[in-house]
Amino acid sequence: MLANIIQTSKNTVFFGGAGVSTESNIPDFRSEKGLYTTKKVYGHQPEELLSRTFFEHNPQLFFQYYKENLIYKNAKPNAAHLALAKLEQNNLLSTVITQNIDGLHQAAGSKNVLELHGSNHRQYCIQCGKTYDLDYIFDAQNCEGIIPKCRECRGLVRPDVVLYEEQLNKKALDLAIEAIATADCLIVGGTSLMVYPAAGLLRHFSGTHLVLINKTETAYDKCANLVIHESIGKILSQVIEHIFG
Ligand code: ZN
Repeated sequence: MLANIIQTSKNTVFFGGAGVSTESNIPDFRSEKGLYTTKKVYGHQPEELLSRTFFEHNPQLFFQYYKENLIYKNAKPNAAHLALAKLEQNNLLSTVITQNIDGLHQAAGSKNVLELHGSNHRQYCIQCGKTYDLDYIFDAQNCEGIIPKCRECRGLVRPDVVLYEEQLNKKALDLAIEAIATADCLIVGGTSLMVYPAAGLLRHFSGTHLVLINKTETAYDKCANLVIHESIGKILSQVIEHIFG
């Protein structure tokens, strides 16, 4: 079972998708019920509103949509986040790779977190690079409306998240590939592995145990050593219970 696999592995890596955050009531962007398939907002599709082009041409509406739909200030880490943090603290997990931008792994206590799509907790000035916290874009109210501007150089301040039309965070991606390539156990949770970059990352794994935990079938079920169609939070809490009592 999973707890034994984790306890006997030398280097376990976790790779998580949106399903890890949905258990904290954060909607999955690309799932059937997610934002991606919701009707147009302000006359635009969500993926258009969250594109680089839209950000550059209509930052006012971008920030309005972004703040209303991509930030969940009251979201709390769920059982999956807490279990992963506990495994790391006990040297049973080396790395968390996430496609989520909500910072809930760090909120749960995880230290080594690779955020492929960035984090909505970080913002930076596109001119001078000065960084700002999340509150800065909420506090932004000035003559330009709600567009946050840099205190130092008046440049536009943007979220450090990967928008549509943009590349994944290169540094995080390289580190993720290295982590997966050197792992002997890879646990993949809360993703159907249909969307880039998830499927591509799996190709780098050559370890002993590939474990897939997802409520529904995934494209890689037949390649895995262990497949569990269940809630990720439920399964990881059982692991913690089994190991630590
Ligand atoms: Zn600046």
